[in-house]
Amino acid sequence: MYDVIVVGARCAGSPTAMLLARQGHRVLVLDRASFPSDTVSTHYLHQTALLKLQDWDLLDAIIDAGTPAIRKMHFSFQGIELNGFAEPVNGIDAVYCPRRTLLDDTLVTGARKAGAEVVENFSVSDLIFEDGRVVGVRGSENKGPKRELRAKVVVGADGFHSTVARRVGAQNYNVRPSANFIYYSYYRGLDWGLHHKTGFNRRWIGTWPTNDDLTMLAVICNRSHLKEFRQDPEKQFLATFDDVVPEMGEELREKGERVEPFRPMRNPDNYYRTAHGPGWALVGDAGYHKDPFTGWGMADAFLHAEMLADRLHEGLSGERPMDEALADYATARDEESEAVYDFTCTLAELDLPPFFRATLGAIGQSRKWTDAMLGIIAGTVHGDEIFSPEGLQRLYDETGVPEEERVYDPTA
Ligand SMILES: Cc1cc2nc3c(=O)[nH]c(=O)nc-3n(C[C@H](O)[C@H](O)[C@H](O)COP(=O)(O)OP(=O)(O)OC[C@H]3O[C@@H](n4cnc5c(N)ncnc54)[C@H](O)[C@@H]3O)c2cc1C
Repeated sequence: MYDVIVVGARCAGSPTAMLLARQGHRVLVLDRASFPSDTVSTHYLHQTALLKLQDWDLLDAIIDAGTPAIRKMHFSFQGIELNGFAEPVNGIDAVYCPRRTLLDDTLVTGARKAGAEVVENFSVSDLIFEDGRVVGVRGSENKGPKRELRAKVVVGADGFHSTVARRVGAQNYNVRPSANFIYYSYYRGLDWGLHHKTGFNRRWIGTWPTNDDLTMLAVICNRSHLKEFRQDPEKQFLATFDDVVPEMGEELREKGERVEPFRPMRNPDNYYRTAHGPGWALVGDAGYHKDPFTGWGMADAFLHAEMLADRLHEGLSGERPMDEALADYATARDEESEAVYDFTCTLAELDLPPFFRATLGAIGQSRKWTDAMLGIIAGTVHGDEIFSPEGLQRLYDETGVPEEERVYDPTA
């Protein structure tokens, strides 16, 4: 009998298991994948995520693997430029974009070192219920015979097609439809740094240096472009760069050599799912997912893994009833992520509503305000620094925005 079984060993699962094991709990992690392995996801880590890795003593493994440090951001939205970098926090003066082969393996190793038992190639097919509570899982290793494994709590960290969520009947809420698809791949021969640029035709391009001297390139487009894209992805990928930043399209043709296949994905709708019930909880994409446009999935997975592990520890150690601790986790998760969720869903429309056109336009006028905004995007500066009524007043005053162009209503 385990204290906790965690299904899924990537960004949400391994940290949850690691933190519980560090508290002395008996934890089993099951994943149908083996590690190191890739998954369909770009992999930019905001400072908030790096701070968690630092707290957990895992950041050095990412840096020591030669992951390039990024110290300048080139962010633009329909002609509004934000070029700068968020203020360093706790010595973190760079951001990183480690391959998931490296990052996820580092997390799994961290869980194992902490004392969690990690079983790879184990596919969970069902849950065991007794008296209305989840008390374990059923599944098999390497397609072998079915086994039953029992625990006080089962955590679904098994991504957006979560088996745990399906078996407990977790309901989606606050769903916001996604209008986008993404294609990405890896290139040699480019020295571009980090660019995050949205054009005028509901198309976006992103570039990040990553491991092995490669640059990861991604495009996100509105679904209205999907049919033509599928007919010739190579041509459309280049055409998207041409459309958003013509000089980058030209350089990509001249110098860029694609070294891996394109990874395409039609983005699922944005959602929250019920985060807990008797004997179970969901963490990471299993319980909450949003468009990759803001690159916040992994940061949120780390934050929520820590929140959940803290609450599970309270329940397991008898500090408070488990169901109460898990209910508290659900509330904390939703409150913590509300602003990022809303910001992501809004900007992922790839069109700027009046409020963001006015505020980003003003922010782009000054390096100080740009760095503060990049800090908000990185999660290290509170949104109120700019988006409270006083912050907006200061922003518009300092950047000289005429009264008639000022927008204060965030829903405008
Ligand atoms: C195209 C794309 C680009 C993205 N770009 C970024 C980015 O730049 N930055 C960022 O922070 N976030 C990004 N994200 C989001 C990020 O990938 C996710 O938020 C993050 O991976 C969630 O981690 P997770 O551990 O919850 O789930 P996952 O990473 O999906 O891991 C789930 C694990 O569960 C296992 N599993 C599933 N079902 C079972 C089962 N039945 N039995 C056993 N094991 C099972 C899987 O094998 C997998 O290993 C992107 C997402 C996508 C799709």
